[in-house]
Amino acid sequence: MLAEPGDAASHWRDRDLAVLWHPCTQMREHPHTLPLLPIARGEGAFLVDHDGRRYLDAISSWWTNLFGHAEPRIAEAIARQARTLEHVILAGCSHMPAVELAERLLDLAPRQPGRAPLAKVFYADNGSAGVEVALKMAFHWFRNRGEDGRTRFIALEGGYHGETLGALAVGDIPLYRRVYAPLLAEAVFVPSPDAWNVHAGESEEACALRAAEALATTLERHRGEVCAMILEPRVQCAGGMRMHHPAYLRRARELCDAHGVFLIADEIAVGFGRTGTLFACEQAGIAPDLMCLSKGLTGGSLPLAAVLATQALYDGFLDESRERAFLHSHSYTGNPLACAAALATLDIFEADDVLVRNRSLATRMGELAAGVGSHRHVAQARQAGMIVAFELTRDGQRDVPFDPGLRIGLRAYRAALDRGVLLRPLGDTLYWMPPYCVDEATLDHLAQVTADAIEEATACA
Ligand SMILES: *Cc1c(COP(=O)(O)O)cnc(C)c1O
Repeated sequence: MLAEPGDAASHWRDRDLAVLWHPCTQMREHPHTLPLLPIARGEGAFLVDHDGRRYLDAISSWWTNLFGHAEPRIAEAIARQARTLEHVILAGCSHMPAVELAERLLDLAPRQPGRAPLAKVFYADNGSAGVEVALKMAFHWFRNRGEDGRTRFIALEGGYHGETLGALAVGDIPLYRRVYAPLLAEAVFVPSPDAWNVHAGESEEACALRAAEALATTLERHRGEVCAMILEPRVQCAGGMRMHHPAYLRRARELCDAHGVFLIADEIAVGFGRTGTLFACEQAGIAPDLMCLSKGLTGGSLPLAAVLATQALYDGFLDESRERAFLHSHSYTGNPLACAAALATLDIFEADDVLVRNRSLATRMGELAAGVGSHRHVAQARQAGMIVAFELTRDGQRDVPFDPGLRIGLRAYRAALDRGVLLRPLGDTLYWMPPYCVDEATLDHLAQVTADAIEEATACA
């Protein structure tokens, strides 16, 4: 049962539902099937409602938050910038935070021996917009060379790249995509290297390489028609936290090179330390031609996206013609407040030695995940650094999923909320993606609540 809301919370809830239309929500379900949490403030890894009830933000508020809510150093950087320059048009003008952030991102970006590094930064103001930028750049680059036939994108089955029509076209989550399909550019989908699909006796690496074979065939079949391949390195997050062996990324890089196709790494969710390295591409030792960043870029404080591109890509737009320039823009492109927040975020990575601390947190998360994973309805507990996912099934194996009508994931969500933990399952996949400021005691509590929530949610099955 849900805890009874206090007066303040129910007051805000009523006012909210009178006027707001919430994202990614069937509004009919509020508030009876799906509780609505009015949050008054954030404190580190916790959210606090108007009645003082605390919830552990185990999903980092849609994977954006890195160091906890209301992080003082980020708050101070934003406040300082707001008193100096809150915004300026970035076409024809420049400002220090945009320049400094670009320099530092390029310095930190993945490198690959023998390959020219990422050399230019184009800003946008959210992840989907960043994906649109990368797709348009790749397509336009070939147009500028007179290769008009390269109109297609290759994307992975089960991938996710955002909700705008261009980003949705390269995404493969039917729930989000199906209804808009008539509006979408046609992408070519290839099998995911998702290690969930391993054959009996096969290694995860072999599974990844099997998927890469299908990519090779597809590239061959569409020779000369493809401008870019887009993928989420290491973890397909919105698709259910599906993880793959880095061998796929190495092979995809080779194949894209062999076919003269750009590789776009969408590190919007996996970047900034989520999978153990600063960027997930590093685990494969590869560098992409275009890399999309957002979500954690500002530590979860302000919307911002950055698209990193190679010099060769950039050079393909230098011309006498304005039409051959990349005339894409957003009013808030490179907003100084957001850039200042991103710079503060990079400072914290250095000052707090975040990646090193994350390694020990991830070890603890792995131990705890093994315990939760022993539940009879958990078919798999999997981990990539600071991401852990639990696949709930009826038989506790891969073969028999729960009847979707039971909404086991939603039941687990409610059961965890009752116990002060905010999870937001993807269907029947539960996952942890906590802010990096959690301590071990909080992780222990998270594991206990997750186990209890799974027990309560599956009691009906
Ligand atoms: C969230 C996400 C996006 C879209 O970013 P928004 O800021 O929500 O538009 C794109 N790609 C991936 C991998 C994401 O996880």
